[in-house]
Amino acid sequence: MAETREHRVRWSGRDAVLLVALPVLCLTAAWLVTYQLALRSNVASETQLNGAKLDFVAASLDSELDKYSYLPELLTLQPDVHALLNQRSDTAIQARLNHWLREMQVRSHASAIYLLDETGLTVAASNYLESGSFVGQNYAFRPYYVQAIRGERRPFYAIGATTGEPGCFLAVAISDGKRPIGVAVVKVSLADIESAWSKSGAAISLSDEHGVLFLSSVANWRYRSLGPLSPAVQQAMKTTRQYGEGTILPLTDAAINVAVPEQRVTMTLPAQYRSGWSRQSPSDTLVQTRPTSLSDWKVVMFSALDGAHGAAVGLANSVALAVALLWLAVASWRLRQRGLYALAVSRMQLQRASDELETRITTRTDALMEANARLQERIREHAEVERVLRATQDELVQAGKMTLLGQMAAGVSHELNQPLTAMRALSANTVELLNQRRTDEVCGNLLAIEGLSDRMGHILSQLRVFARRSDEGFAPFFVNAALDDAVRLMEAPLRAHHVKITRTGATLATTVKGDRVRLGQVFVNLVRNAIDAMNTDMDGTPMQLQVALVQTADTVSVRVADSGPGLSEHALQHLFEPFYTSKDAGKGLGLGLSISRSIVKAMGGELTAENLPKGGALFCVSLPITERDVEELKSD
Ligand code: ADP
Repeated sequence: MAETREHRVRWSGRDAVLLVALPVLCLTAAWLVTYQLALRSNVASETQLNGAKLDFVAASLDSELDKYSYLPELLTLQPDVHALLNQRSDTAIQARLNHWLREMQVRSHASAIYLLDETGLTVAASNYLESGSFVGQNYAFRPYYVQAIRGERRPFYAIGATTGEPGCFLAVAISDGKRPIGVAVVKVSLADIESAWSKSGAAISLSDEHGVLFLSSVANWRYRSLGPLSPAVQQAMKTTRQYGEGTILPLTDAAINVAVPEQRVTMTLPAQYRSGWSRQSPSDTLVQTRPTSLSDWKVVMFSALDGAHGAAVGLANSVALAVALLWLAVASWRLRQRGLYALAVSRMQLQRASDELETRITTRTDALMEANARLQERIREHAEVERVLRATQDELVQAGKMTLLGQMAAGVSHELNQPLTAMRALSANTVELLNQRRTDEVCGNLLAIEGLSDRMGHILSQLRVFARRSDEGFAPFFVNAALDDAVRLMEAPLRAHHVKITRTGATLATTVKGDRVRLGQVFVNLVRNAIDAMNTDMDGTPMQLQVALVQTADTVSVRVADSGPGLSEHALQHLFEPFYTSKDAGKGLGLGLSISRSIVKAMGGELTAENLPKGGALFCVSLPITERDVEELKSD
């Protein structure tokens, strides 16, 4: 379960998709959708706004042309017009008519008003006084003349054939009741309308029925067509000199149908037509058209949709930014959630580890306490065993002494027998001497008896001292005194076994602190063992025991060396262990050396054993010299 959770916390491929690919896709989609919707909405509102503007422009144009439409009709009512057309050579009528036309032109603000006869020849004109007078000019080639003769009434726009100034020609046929006898023409300038369009800043043009723009707020769009013209139309325009002598070129390669009121085209404009227009090329352009009521002309309005695009891009950018911010907020929230989750998981793991540790510590502590309790129990048991051992050891020491005492009993009785025999002989001799009154000799005998009894008393007191339990406290004593005690005790056995004892250092008065009786017991034991060893398988070899007292700066050693067989490897290893013995049952207990070592140790010394190079064993008792002696030695 925990593993699954940990796995979830790690980043996966799905996370990468969620964090990178998905946001990029969402941003792109949001941008595109917003852009398209905003563009559509912007284009719709621009279409509506400009449509209203265009309606107004078309209506203004209609009303402007309508103002002048009555003027040609007026001419048909003038009697001089008919008179002149009937009497063309009558100069008086012509002069009067010219003047009248002039008056009419000035009042109506028309560009020119003139009269053509049925051949198209100008017979009177408002500009009769000007250098470019129409009078005498034949305009039969002009379509407005042809249309008027045919009875059609359509305004015609063209560049003036005589003046070179463009204008709108309104022409009406004058009839004598049966047939047309002339044509009344009013030329109106639309320059004011054009300049008003220019000032509005909008790209407004007026197109003829062939799609040629003859009025335009953008100056160099004038006399350019919205589509390619057929050669026949081009030729007709050249013939009628409607737009001058030049060829009419298309403004743009975009297919614009002026019959459609609203259309969106991609317009590519040559550089020279672009000034004052869109900076883009090709530009996304809204083309709106409105018909005019008096003619086949169409008012055309071009609106570059740069602004609509720009606004849509702006909105799309804002929405994308908002989406990105939203995504960032969501992503950071999710990351925070994941972080919190990971934190909770690690806290949980930490808590679990801590709990485990605590449990382990508790278990260990319990085990330790148990072990401690067991140890305490062992220590107690050990102390008890030690106490029992000490008691046993004391008992054994005592028992050892008793054994030794038993062994010595024969020697002691022999020792005591000798003086006793001597004393018996002396006392018998003394009785004889007293009978013979030889008092001096009696005295000598009694003194001898006294000496012998002293010696016996000494032997007995030694035995008593040896046998008693030593409970005395430690006190300083001479090492040699303890050694003397032992040698004296062992005198009889030594003699009995013909052992030659050599002592060195016997005069040293070195003191140690401890129990003199016990140390004597150690020496007795060492001598006893030496005697026993030398008596084992030693055929004829002289038995020699060397006892040496050696003193160094702070220790004193008693070295007991024998000429026996020495110590076996096994004996060297187990010598000081209790109950180790090589002697026959009943002869040895194997306690002597272990007790001896514990006595020496109790006094702060050491008991060691080794073999001598020339054969035999060497036992060495080393003891610390008492401070008094150390001081004395130093001062020597
Ligand atoms: P026991 O004398 O009762 O055997 P000890 O502890 O005094 O007990 O001696 C243990 C053993 O050490 C002896 O049995 C003997 O084998 C060996 N031993 C002691 N002293 C000597 C010695 N001087 N030379 C050879 N072996 C010895």
